[in-house]
Amino acid sequence: MVTTSPIKIGLVGLGKIAVDQHIPAIRANPGFELVAGCSPHARPDGITAYNDMAGMLAAHPEIEALAICTPPQVRHRIAKEALASGRHVFLEKPPGATLGEAEALRAFAAEKGKTLLASWHSRFAPAVGATRDWIAQHELKSMHIVWKENVRQWHPGQAWIFAPGGMGVFDPGINALSILTAVAGDAVIVKQADLHIPVNCDAPIEVHLDMVTAHGGVPVRADFDFLQENLQTWSIYAEALDGGKLALHMGGTTLEIDGKTVLQEPEREYPGLYAHFHALVSGGKTDADFAPLRIVADAFMLGKRIAAPEYVE
Ligand code: NAP
Repeated sequence: MVTTSPIKIGLVGLGKIAVDQHIPAIRANPGFELVAGCSPHARPDGITAYNDMAGMLAAHPEIEALAICTPPQVRHRIAKEALASGRHVFLEKPPGATLGEAEALRAFAAEKGKTLLASWHSRFAPAVGATRDWIAQHELKSMHIVWKENVRQWHPGQAWIFAPGGMGVFDPGINALSILTAVAGDAVIVKQADLHIPVNCDAPIEVHLDMVTAHGGVPVRADFDFLQENLQTWSIYAEALDGGKLALHMGGTTLEIDGKTVLQEPEREYPGLYAHFHALVSGGKTDADFAPLRIVADAFMLGKRIAAPEYVE
């Protein structure tokens, strides 16, 4: 029997996503050993924590891989230092504040011979594979993304989200774009964007995108809203030329075909992501696809800026 020792991993940024998802997913995977974490202030229970990555790595030179769970604005500098120190890197989404940062990291990981995972957690939602299969079997007429959530409920205290590089409502919206780019079977091009930006913020709170698939010419509409109260919506609809209809709901956990629920499974994105990261490290591979980030970048390039009311948390 071949036995391999668990990959020793450290966490950088001990905020909401590290605590809610990374720590439990790492602990549940025998292929990993969670050694320590670092964050300027956060000190979650049961984690040996340091103020910064340099301090953590000095105390734990045995760490082989780092998961970067900080806000996007500081991710590139930290990930570059992590790769330079010879560690494999798991990047939370988005993989950088700009495409340039993300592409430079991919090149640097290749130069250092280390694994880089630019993670897109929504691609690991249970109904994404079946959605991709249905789309591959149909000629599409149109697609429509409706991604509407309450920023006050899901992102309390996260001032970085409306700062430059924080992406505003694209922070959740890019999850929908990560599913779109995984299932469409074609590149997706932005044609028009309306960016509603609160007068006291630097990133949009509401976005409407008109896109089209590059070869098939299928129109794809996306409506993102960060001020949705009560019912929260994370849905993607596809309509086929033969009249067939697909609806992916709740971020990818529920799939309806022609109005009937055909799949409904609990969310298990981060266990899937960590299994994927383990396979990449073991196989000496990298997975760094920036197609969702490119759509966001293009929306910022093409988008019409519309002043929205002041946002106060
Ligand atoms: P968050 O709650 O604000 O946590 C970010 C953490 O990063 C904070 O604890 C902060 O430190 C820490 N940090 C900031 N600068 C740092 C640095 N230079 N070195 C080390 N740590 C640093 O944000 P979050 O919701 O966890 O989101 C983080 C990333 O995960 C974002 O890119 C987001 O898009 C992604 N994500 C979030 C969710 C979600 O549901 N929240 C889901 C999927 C992905 P201190 O608190 O210690 O000052």
